[in-house]
This record gives sequence, structure tokens and C-alpha cells, in this order.
Amino acid sequence: PIILAIESSCDETSAAVIADGQLLSNITATQAVHTQYGGVVPELASRAHQQNVVPVVAEALRVAGISKQQLSAVAFTQGPGLLGALLVGSSFAKSLALGLNIPLLGVNHIQAHILSHFIEEPRPKFPFLCLTVSGGHTQIVQVNAPSDIKILGETQDDAVGEAFDKTAKLIGLPYPGGPLIDRYAKDGNPKAFAFPVVEMQHLDFSFSGIKTAFMYFLKDKSAEFIAENRNDICASVQYTLVEILMRKLRKAVRETGITEVAIAGGVSANSGLRNALTAEAEKRHWNIYVPRFEYCTDNAAMIAMTAHFLYQENKTVGQNASPMPRMTL
Ligand code: ATP
Ligand code: MG
Ligand code: FE
Repeated sequence: PIILAIESSCDETSAAVIADGQLLSNITATQAVHTQYGGVVPELASRAHQQNVVPVVAEALRVAGISKQQLSAVAFTQGPGLLGALLVGSSFAKSLALGLNIPLLGVNHIQAHILSHFIEEPRPKFPFLCLTVSGGHTQIVQVNAPSDIKILGETQDDAVGEAFDKTAKLIGLPYPGGPLIDRYAKDGNPKAFAFPVVEMQHLDFSFSGIKTAFMYFLKDKSAEFIAENRNDICASVQYTLVEILMRKLRKAVRETGITEVAIAGGVSANSGLRNALTAEAEKRHWNIYVPRFEYCTDNAAMIAMTAHFLYQENKTVGQNASPMPRMTL
């Protein structure tokens, strides 16, 4: 089957074409409009998706060398995400599928982050563990099959991506601050400053405490101090966040005995996390899977990959399928 997939859950408009599980194209338009507001503005995101969706889809088809008439199905991100943003992608996908008289596939964005590992080699073997770390999610899941995913633990408050972005904002970095913290951390000392961490039960996470601790840390610091110590501050914040993630990941491996370990989602682009995971893998003989950078943050390639599995499982949706802003796994 040849499937066109559209992602529009947040601030990336993306389209991809996959043929028999082989990715043919993946085109993404990132919305720059939000930077000046320090976060994603939902109404502006919807408008930008409306402007981008037609050219992005056209480009994805062109690069793939596929005409609309050759498509077997159209897939879209059904949730979770911003309602207005999801509506643009789903409406577009629905009309296209209706016009071509082909099936429609509604994809869970978080399942797609996890299944992004199947876009190319090396592909993890089932069952594997996946640490999903993004702007809205922080979970450790056990993946038994593409559509059999068990949540072992998750955040009880903020997502780790949010923690990166909010701490970055507190020291005056533009949105999204995660990648900037990563960049400055490379030249800083991760042990320069210590932030208290609350230990959560089981395999759950909490990131709201560190944000508060960081606010207190900054309270009596001058702008000069922050500027002079920017790299050390970023390195210390990143070290703390990565340690929280790694501690739970080690625990999950111990408890399940599974040593196939993947990371997914926007924060899996973080070099501190990647280095910590690589070091751990060597020490404890894990097989680790880290997505290519373009498949870490939001993209339609992962939606297309998931749609490929859903198509095989005959899991199509009807024209009445509506966006699910709080869709869960
Ligand atoms: P969700 O997938 O949960 O719906 P989302 O789609 O907004 O949320 P992604 O696009 O997958 O999330 O990831 C975006 C997040 O990843 C942002 O918080 C961003 O700061 C963070 N991020 C991206 N690159 C890095 C990096 N190198 N270091 C730290 N954080 C990063
Ligand atoms: Mg995004
Ligand atoms: Fe995402």
C-alpha cells in the first residue's frame, strides 16, 4: 500500500509518503511565528497549518514521485494535540480520502513517536522499552507489538520537554529553549549547581518541583551572574533532568529484564540524554535505539510508519472520526 500521512498536532505541518513500509518522502514546515510569544499560540498554529498544508502535501507527493491517484489510504494525526491544529490536518485528510474514495487512518501521535524506530534500521526487537520524552509527554512504555503498548510509568505533572523550555525561559532564552540549553550545556560544568530532586514512586516522574527549585535558585541572582554562568547553569539543569530520566529507565530495565531500550520524542534529540544512554548501554549491555534527529521532533514520517501498521491491522476510521486532543495510548 502507498499511504500519505499528515501531521498537524502542534506547531509543525508535515506530510510524508510511505510505500510498503518504505519511506519515500517527509516534508516539514516549522512555524516560526511562535518564537516571539515564548510558546505555541494555538490560534496562530491553526492558521499556519491552513497556509502550509496544501504546499507541504504537494511537495511530499512530488518528492515521492507519487500521484494522488496511486494512494491506497490517507492518514492523519488524530491526537493528542491542539484541537484547532488537529482539525486542519484531519479535515484535509478526510476530504482527500473522500475525493479519492480510499480509506482513512487516524494515528495516535505518541504511538507514532514510539514507532518512529521502524522507519529505518536498526529496528528494535519486541518486546522493547521506550522512554518517550517530548513537549507534552514523559513516559516509559513496554512495546510488545506495534499496537500493544503498556505504560509502565509517566509524569504526574509537567513533561520533561516543558521543564527544559520553562527553565530556559526563566534565564531569558527564546522558545523552544530545550535545544538552546543543550547547546550551551556542551561548554558548561554539569556539577556546577545542584537542584533538589523529588523521588517519585515506581516508574513515575515529576518535573514541576525542579522548575520551582530553579526559580528559587535564580531569585537572588543578578542578570550578570546568569549571563556569566549561562553554560554552567544550562549544563547543571540538563544533567539534573537527564539523571531523573536515566534513574527510572535503569529501574524499568531491572524490573522487566528487557534490555532493548529506545528513546523517542523531541527531547530524545538532547545530546546529554544520548550520551548518558550510550554510556549506560556499554556498561550494562543494553541494545539502544536512538532516532535520527529529524524523526525525534514532530514529523509525518512517524505518522506514515504507524499508518502502515494500522493499515495492515485493518484499523481504518470513518468520515465521522474527530480529533482527540487528549487521546491516550
Ligand atoms: P507531544 O509529542 O507530547 O505531543 P510535542 O509534539 O510538542 O509534544 P515534540 O515536538 O516531540 O513535542 O518535542 C518538542 C520538545 O522537545 C520541546 O519541549 C523542545 O524543547 C524539546 N527538545 C527538542 N530538541 C531538544 C534538545 N536538543 N534538548 C532538549 N530538549 C529538546
Ligand atoms: Mg513541536
Ligand atoms: Fe510530538
